[in-house]
Amino acid sequence: MTVEERIKGRKIGIIGMARSGLAAALLAKRFGGAPLVSDSARAELVAPQTETLRQEGIPYETGGHTEQLLGSDYLIISPGVPPNIDIVVKARAEGLPIFSELEFASWVCRGKIIAVTGSNGKTTTTTLIGEIFKEAGFETWVCGNIGRPFAEIADKVTESGVAVVEVSTFQLEAIEDFRPHIAAILNLTPDHIDRHGSFEAYKQMKYRITENQAAEDFLILNHDDPEISAAKISTRAKILSFSIKPPNSANTFVKDDSLFSNYKNRQIKIMKVTEINIPGRHNLQNAATAALTAVLFDISSEVMRKVLKEFPGVEHRLENTGTVAGVYFINDSKATNVDSVCVALQSMTRPVYLILGGRDKGAGYEPIIEVGRDRIKGILAIGEAREKIFNALGQSFPTQFADSLEEAVHRCFELALPGETVLLSPGCASFDMFENFEHRGKVFKAVVDSLRKNKKKDETLSN
Ligand code: ADP
Repeated sequence: MTVEERIKGRKIGIIGMARSGLAAALLAKRFGGAPLVSDSARAELVAPQTETLRQEGIPYETGGHTEQLLGSDYLIISPGVPPNIDIVVKARAEGLPIFSELEFASWVCRGKIIAVTGSNGKTTTTTLIGEIFKEAGFETWVCGNIGRPFAEIADKVTESGVAVVEVSTFQLEAIEDFRPHIAAILNLTPDHIDRHGSFEAYKQMKYRITENQAAEDFLILNHDDPEISAAKISTRAKILSFSIKPPNSANTFVKDDSLFSNYKNRQIKIMKVTEINIPGRHNLQNAATAALTAVLFDISSEVMRKVLKEFPGVEHRLENTGTVAGVYFINDSKATNVDSVCVALQSMTRPVYLILGGRDKGAGYEPIIEVGRDRIKGILAIGEAREKIFNALGQSFPTQFADSLEEAVHRCFELALPGETVLLSPGCASFDMFENFEHRGKVFKAVVDSLRKNKKKDETLSN
């Protein structure tokens, strides 16, 4: 079936009115489809979206999903919508096809797709790949779970263009034909167990990224990840791997403190590891992944080196927030699972006061005990998860409760000595106290700023 036949004249029910849903609706309209957009939120909460839909003449409903959606030819479900809500269960029972926004967008994308998934590092790696491809002169579209929905730009990608797509598990739940030319799975650690039910179910969902790949496609895997290297992933694609540990048999690897690629029996030294601007071993893995995608497109190591030397990292990921009275502040608000807290702690070189908590996601906090042992001086637990955090970690580290992030930052600042670090790496979702992790990170930075200003005031007063 052609793209036109799949969309033109079709009744398309779209569940969710946030950016992905809205982008899918506009895409459906551009291709002559008949979308109906539905959101459970009350009208006043989605006023900007309904305004756009009204201007575009696209019908919508708010405050719940009515049965008229079941009259659609198929449904498109936004990534934030739980897969077990009534309307979706009914649609499934009636045999109505249900697609994710990622699947829908991929129908109209004429260029090559590079898809990045994994538990952690997706945004960093997707951004980095985008920067390398742009620097190399490719028509590059960075999109997906990264702020700009794939559906917003998919039909603009030309045949020689490249869409670099950050792919979440939620989007993979409802694919049918989604076929990336390159798929990368960065790592697999327990995350979103609340939604997928078990780690096993979550992993199987991630592996779907390769489900439709063909022999001319590539699947990039993390050779150092025990889950991934032990898994028997069924794929038709050519499997390639990256590794930052010996014995250097992967397609990008580290030897003598340099990053190398080895593809089609050609070994190339890309650069010295110390020249890579983003810190930590986890970022070395992200760089190794990005470099391998670049090798597959014959991008020169000069281009890779230039970008990796300059890439500043992404906001809210181990973001240096400066010092106040000699105390270092680091904003890692994007650490929304326990594994990324462990990664953050591993890259800490000074004693740490850790701000942890938010909405619990189902995995335990115990892994923090081992990696935190010689690093954590104290924990400030916030949000819904604080009791659970206290029960898991209270025996191992001095752990206190704070009622807000602001209070937690102030308490840490009181406790920390000059030369020590206050790290916000919450290991939880943000939705119990904030709109999203960006909001949480901005609040953290604002509190640090206010400490800095007050400090200046104190200094002026005491002079
Ligand atoms: P994602 O988009 O998968 O959430 P990000 O790049 O936004 O990934 O990073 C999220 C968190 O994970 C940050 O706290 C970051 O420091 C950490 N992180 C980044 N890359 C990796 C990696 N390769 N392995 C483990 N943790 C990582």
